[in-house]
Amino acid sequence: MKQSSRSLSFAVQLVIVLVPLAVLAVLAWRGARAQERAVWEDLGRDAELYATALADRLALRLPDAVEISARYPDPPSPGAGSPMDLVLDGKDIAALKQLRDAPEAGNSPAGLPRRALAALRIMELAPQEQAARELEHLLILDCPSILTESGLAKLDPEGTEVLRSWRRGQAAIALLDGGEGPGWMLEGFKAWWAGPDEKGAKFISPEAVEQLLAEELKKLPHRDFAAGLSLEERGSTNSAAFRSSPVAFGKGLRMEVRLRDPKSVATTARGQQRRVIALVSLAAGICLGGLLLIHRSLRREQKLNEMKSQFVASVSHELRAPVASIRLMADALEAGKVAPETAKEFHRLIAREGARLSTLVGNVLDHARIEQGRKIWKMEPCDLAALVKDTLQVMEPLANERKIHLEAGISAAESSVDADAIQQALVNLLDNAIKFSPEGSTIFTSLSLDERLRTWSLSVNDPGPGIAKEEQARIFERFYRPGDELRRETQGTGIGLSLVKSIAEAHGGRVTVSSQPGQGSTFTLSIPISS
Ligand code: ADP
Repeated sequence: MKQSSRSLSFAVQLVIVLVPLAVLAVLAWRGARAQERAVWEDLGRDAELYATALADRLALRLPDAVEISARYPDPPSPGAGSPMDLVLDGKDIAALKQLRDAPEAGNSPAGLPRRALAALRIMELAPQEQAARELEHLLILDCPSILTESGLAKLDPEGTEVLRSWRRGQAAIALLDGGEGPGWMLEGFKAWWAGPDEKGAKFISPEAVEQLLAEELKKLPHRDFAAGLSLEERGSTNSAAFRSSPVAFGKGLRMEVRLRDPKSVATTARGQQRRVIALVSLAAGICLGGLLLIHRSLRREQKLNEMKSQFVASVSHELRAPVASIRLMADALEAGKVAPETAKEFHRLIAREGARLSTLVGNVLDHARIEQGRKIWKMEPCDLAALVKDTLQVMEPLANERKIHLEAGISAAESSVDADAIQQALVNLLDNAIKFSPEGSTIFTSLSLDERLRTWSLSVNDPGPGIAKEEQARIFERFYRPGDELRRETQGTGIGLSLVKSIAEAHGGRVTVSSQPGQGSTFTLSIPISS
C-alpha cells in the first residue's frame, strides 16, 4: 500500500514535470513555425517592392526598344506578263543577266521582283559575297514584298540578324492581320510585343525585352530574388513565383519575382526547429534525471531514517536488558540471601554484562563522534601482538559461555595505531563471530605481517552461518542488518561493522569479508605499517 502510494506520487511528480515540458515543446514548435511564416511574409513583402520597382523601370525603358516594321504589298504573282520569265529556270545565265539589267525591269511592281529573282538565281549559280550582300539589301529593304520563305532560305540558309528581324516584323504584321490586336505574346519563355502603326507594325523583340530585363536586374541587385516575365492572360504563373507586378507597357504582361532558393528558407527554419527540439529534449532529460536523483535520495533518506529508528530501538533494548539483570543480581547480592556458589556466578555475570554494556556504549559514542567528525585518533607505536592477546583474553569469558574455543596464530608486529580503536574493532569482530557461531565451535584469530606490501593484517575466522554474496557489501553500512527484524535471532545494533570500517579507513587500511553461506566467514583488517 505504502509502496503503491510512493510510486503514485512519483507518477504525479513525473506528470508535473512532463506536462509543462510538453506545453513548452508545443509552444516552441509553434513559435518556430510562426517564425518561418514571418520570414516568408517578409520575403513576400520584399519581393513585392522588388517586383514593382523592376516593373516600373522596365516599363519606362520598353518604349525605347520599339521597332517599326513596314507593311508591304503582297508579292506579285510570278510570271505576270513578261516573256523573260521563262529564263527564270536559271539555265540561261546571259538571259538572266539581261533580265536583271534591263532598265524597264525595275519600273513596275512586277518588274522589280523579276529582276530580283533573276539576281537571286544568278547568286545561286555563281555566289559572290559582295553581290550577295547587295542582293540581300535589295530584297529586304528595297523590295521585301517579294520575299518568300523558300527565297529567304536560298538567300541565306543560316539566317542573318537582318533576316531574323525581318521575320519578326513579318510575324508581327501577320499577327495583327490575324485579328489578335496589340499585346504581349510569349514565344517559349520569351515575351515580345506587337502593335499596329500607320506604316506597318510596332514591336519589341524578345531579345530586346530580355536584354532590358537583364540590365535592370543588374541595377537592382538582390541576393534572394530572380525575375522573369509572363503573360497575364494565359495565367502562366510559375509555382515558385510568389509576387508579381504588371509591367505598364502594352497589355497582358506581368513581372514575376521568384525566390532564388526557396529551400534555404525552409532549411533555416527546420534547423531552428531542430535546435528547439534538441533544447527541449535536453531540458526534459535534465528534469527527469534531477527528478530521479531527488526521488532516489529521498528514498535513501527514508530508508536511513527507518534504519535509525530501528537502531534507537535496538540500542535501548541492548542497554535495558543488561542493566536490568545487573540490578537484579546486585540487589540479590546486597540482600545477602544468595548462596556462595550463586554469588560467584552473579559476580561473573555482572562483570560480563558490564563488559557488554561498555562495548555497546563505546560503539555508540564512537559512532556518534565519527559521524560528527569529532573523533580524535591517537596514533602511537603499539605492540600489536600484545594487543591481540589482551583482547582475546577479554573476550574469553563470553566465548566460554557458549563453549566456543578461541584460537590464534599471532606473529610479532608493531605499528603506530590508535590502540583503543583497533581493540574495539577486534572486539566487534570477535563479538559477531561468537554471536553467530554454533556452540562448541572454534574461532581462529590471526595477526600477520607482510613486509613486502608493508601491511599488517588481523583476521577473524568463524564457522558461523556465513553471509550471502549480495549482503557482503551492505553489512558495512551503518545501521544495516540483513533480514527481517522480527524474525532475527541475534541481537545487535547494526553499527559494529560500520565502526570497524571507519577504524580501518582512519588507519589508511580497509576491512574485507570472505564468506559463503553455510561455510563460515573471515573478516580481515589490512592496515599499512606506520612507524
Ligand atoms: P550487529 O551485529 O549489531 O547486527 P554489525 O554491523 O556488527 O551489526 O553486523 C551487521 C550484520 O552483519 C549482522 O547483523 C549480521 O547479519 C552480519 N554479520 C556480521 N558478522 C557476521 C558473522 N561473523 N557471521 C555472519 N553474519 C555476520
